[in-house]
Amino acid sequence: MIDPFGRAVTYLRVSVTDRCDFRCVYCMSEHMNFLPKPELLTLEELDRVCSAFIHKGVRKLRLTGGEPLVRRDVMTLIKSLGRHLDIGALDELTLTTNGSQLARHAADLHAAGIRRINVSLDTLKPDLFAEITRWGRLPQVLDGIAAAKRAGLKIKINTVALKGVNEAEIPALIEWAHGEGHDITLIETMPMGDIDGDRTDQYLPLSAVRRTLATRWTLDEMHFRTGGPARYVRVKETGGRLGFITPLTHNFCESCNRVRLTCTGTLYMCLGQDDAADLRAAVRAGASDDRLSAAIDEAISRKPKGHDFIIDRDHNRPAVARHMSLTGG
Ligand code: SAM
Ligand code: SF4
Repeated sequence: MIDPFGRAVTYLRVSVTDRCDFRCVYCMSEHMNFLPKPELLTLEELDRVCSAFIHKGVRKLRLTGGEPLVRRDVMTLIKSLGRHLDIGALDELTLTTNGSQLARHAADLHAAGIRRINVSLDTLKPDLFAEITRWGRLPQVLDGIAAAKRAGLKIKINTVALKGVNEAEIPALIEWAHGEGHDITLIETMPMGDIDGDRTDQYLPLSAVRRTLATRWTLDEMHFRTGGPARYVRVKETGGRLGFITPLTHNFCESCNRVRLTCTGTLYMCLGQDDAADLRAAVRAGASDDRLSAAIDEAISRKPKGHDFIIDRDHNRPAVARHMSLTGG
C-alpha cells in the first residue's frame, strides 16, 4: 500500500476497545460515554480486517485502546493474530497497555508470539499516579511490569511529560527504567478530545526537557528506529535508550508509515485529521475479500500529508474531537 505521497503503509494500529479501567487526565474526562456493544467490531471481524491489512503488506501490528487488555476475550484475538507471525506474514505483533492487567496476561502474551510491549507510566509516586490516572493504582501496574519482564517480554515505558506534574520526576523515571533494563520514551500531550482541564496547563515541550536532561547527562544521538515516530538517544551514564515523541515541536509526518483502525472499524489515515473510512460498513454488508481490499485501497489513497496539531493560548480547543482512547495514539 503506497499513499499519494509515496509513503509505504506497513504499520497498523488497532484500538480494540474504547473502554479503560483508568481515566488519565490528559486522555479522558472523568465521565465518559462509551460506545454501545453493537457498534464494536466483534473479535472475528477485527481478525478479518487485521488479516486483510496483513495480506496487503502490513508488517507490524499494534493493539491498543482504550485499554486493550480489558476487552473481554481479547486473548482469543491475540492468539489468532499470532498465526501471521508463525508463517512470516507479520514481523511484529505488539501491544500498548496501561499495565493494570499484565500480571494476569503476561505469560499468554509471550506464548502468542508477542515479544515487546509498551507500558504507559507517568510517575513512580503512588499518590501522583492515582491523581493522574484517577482510577489506577501504582502497585498493580508495577506488579504487571515485573510479570511481563519475568515472562520474557521486552518493555518500553511511555511517559507523557506533564508540565509541573511529573516534570521534575522525569530524570528519576529514566533512571528507574534504565535500571530495570527498559527503554523509555517521553511523549508530548496532544490536543485530542475534550478533557476536564486546560491543555495549555499540561503542555510541556520536549525540546525544553531535552535541554534540561542534557545538562545532567550525555545524550548520544542514535539512528535506532522501531518503526514508530520516536527519535532515540543513548544516555551515556545509564546505558539506556531514551526516545522522544514530539508531534508538536517536530513534525514526524513525512516518514509516517501507519494508519489506525478503531474498535468500530473506522480507519483513520492520520491521528490528527478527521478524514476516515468506514470498513465496518463493508464488512457487515458481506463484502468479499476483494471488496474489502478495494475499500482499504480507496482509504489509503486519501492519506493526508500531515496533521495540524497546535497547542497555545489561542488554540486550547482540541484539534480533533475524538479522544485518544478511540484511536489509541
Ligand atoms: N490504555 C493504554 C495505555 O495507556 O497505554 C493504551 C491506549 S493510550 C490512549 C496510548 C498512549 O497514548 C498512552 O501512552 C497514553 O499515555 C497516550 N495518550 C493518551 N492521551 C494522550 C494525549 N492527549 N496526548 C499524548 N499522549 C496521550
Ligand atoms: Fe486509559 Fe490509556 Fe487513556 Fe489512560 S491513557 S485513560 S490508561 S486509554
